[in-house]
Order: sequence, then C-alpha cells, then structure tokens
Amino acid sequence: MNAIMPVEVQAPMQPFSSDQTIGTALALMTRAFAAAGIDSAQRDARFLLQSLLGLDGAVLLTQPQRSLGDDALRISDAVRRRLAHEPVSRIAGRREFYGRNFVITPDVLDPRADTETVIDLALDIIKSKGWAKKALSIADIGTGSGILIATLLAELPNARGIATDVSPAALTIARQNAERLGVAERVTFVAARGLEGCVGPLDLIVSNPPYIATDKIAALEPDVRNYDPMIALDGGPDGLRVYREIAEDIAKLQHSSCVVVEVGAGQAADVKNVFSSVGWSLLGERNDLGGHARAVALEIHS
Ligand code: GLN
Repeated sequence: MNAIMPVEVQAPMQPFSSDQTIGTALALMTRAFAAAGIDSAQRDARFLLQSLLGLDGAVLLTQPQRSLGDDALRISDAVRRRLAHEPVSRIAGRREFYGRNFVITPDVLDPRADTETVIDLALDIIKSKGWAKKALSIADIGTGSGILIATLLAELPNARGIATDVSPAALTIARQNAERLGVAERVTFVAARGLEGCVGPLDLIVSNPPYIATDKIAALEPDVRNYDPMIALDGGPDGLRVYREIAEDIAKLQHSSCVVVEVGAGQAADVKNVFSSVGWSLLGERNDLGGHARAVALEIHS
C-alpha cells in the first residue's frame, strides 16, 4: 500500500462575522499569519486588532469575549492584506517611533526601529557639545514621514528645523505628523532635492536617505519591495548616490557643523569616505540591534 502523506492545504481564511469574539479572531489570525511564514504572527495579530478596534492592549487580553461587531469586515480585510505581506504599520496607517505615534501612508517609507539610532546619536552629540539649551537650527533631508525632524524638535524645545523632500505628498504627511506632535510651527517644509534653497548656518543636518543599491532592490523582502516607495529606497548603482549629493550640498553651506546619517548594513566605511573627501571627519557611530553600524555622525571644523 502506498503511503500517501497528507498535504496540508492552506485554505483561505474565512471572513470574520460580527458575532465572533476578539479572542477567536486573535487566535485565528495568529495561526493564519504563522502558517504564512510571518515570524511576528502573534505580535502582528495583536497590533492589528488593537489598532483597528481602537483598544489598548489590556482590553484585548482581558476581554477576549467581546464581539467584533461592525469592525469584523475591516479586520477581515486587514488579515487579507497582511497575508499578502503588507506590513502591519501600513495596514493600520500608523507607526510608533521613539515612543510617539506617526501617521504613515503609501507615499512615505515605513519608519524602522533602526532609525532610532540616528536620534540617539544626534541627541548624544548635542549633549556633549553643550547645545541642549541653545537655539539650534536643524535640517532633515528627505524627511519622508517627518519622523526625524518631528522627534528631534519634540525632544529639543529650543530647536527649529527645515525639512526637505522631493515628494510633495510626503511633505503633506510630514507636516501632519509635526502638527500631531505640536512642533509644526518650528518647522519649515520645502519641496526640494537635498538642501536646495536652504541657507546656513545649520548646527545639525540629519538624513535617512535612500541607500539600497538599485540591483539589490529586486531581492528585498516583499514587505519592503512591494510597499515602500521606490524613491525612498533606491540609492543608485552603489547605494551611495544621495550621500554624495548631501556631501556636495553641505560643502556649499557656510558654518554648518554636524551631520548624522543613517547608513545601510556594511556601508559605514564608504559613507565616511564620501564625507571625508569633502573635509568632514568622524564624530561618532551607533550600532543597530543587529550589530551593524547604522548611524554615522561627522563634523567639520570651519
Ligand atoms: N532601512 C530600509 C531597508 O533596509 C531602507 C531605507 C533606506 O533606504 N533609507 O529596508
């Protein structure tokens, strides 16, 4: 007798009905996400339910018998989207960064936890230079959702900022996020490439530019490749194109002093070279949780 191994066929998940409970939904979603190979299955299921039902985490766990009610359809739709590898932050339209909530849309890069290293390094530098109380002037190049400039201004009440992006749609989101954090009146938003149109002096320039080499984009995870705007990822043939543009731009500004940029894994040395070739020297570095140098700071002595 031939032993036929049972093959588990992944049945599409049935849409939820309004009388199903939160507890059931959490269990079914976790199972479906795990079966689809999503590592963060339980965390994603919780995050989606919390966000879409507008509940805090405690309610989710202490009232599992609550029914989904009118939200059943929206939750079913969210499950379908997650199973197609759309990141949960995009489905919910929000992402937490440095302890604050940001709105995100398809027009902006989904902020990563790694980018918090840019904030940590920038704040360390400001402290060590004794600038915490100074009326600082900060620029954020390619601001996207505005996480860098809005977080820095929220942390530094005496700072003012300028945020540029080539995408007017991204600037709309950045402004909205700055308003939500109560810092919008201290930021000027400019639709421009790099520091085009900006005048110095700037105390600090920050940026998380696109840094993926063009030929590596096809191999990125679908969660990234299919959902982050290409313009926020593609750093040209070697991934360094925008660093070179930033280095050229800041060389033209008078009396600017520090720059803190995010870099891709393995790019720190190349990025340092780009800036040292225009006279900037290394001021500090921060590793991400994966142990890669992720934020690089440079300064110039004028
Ligand atoms: N950190 C993103 C990624 O590796 C890329 C963001 C960027 O290019 N700045 O998916």
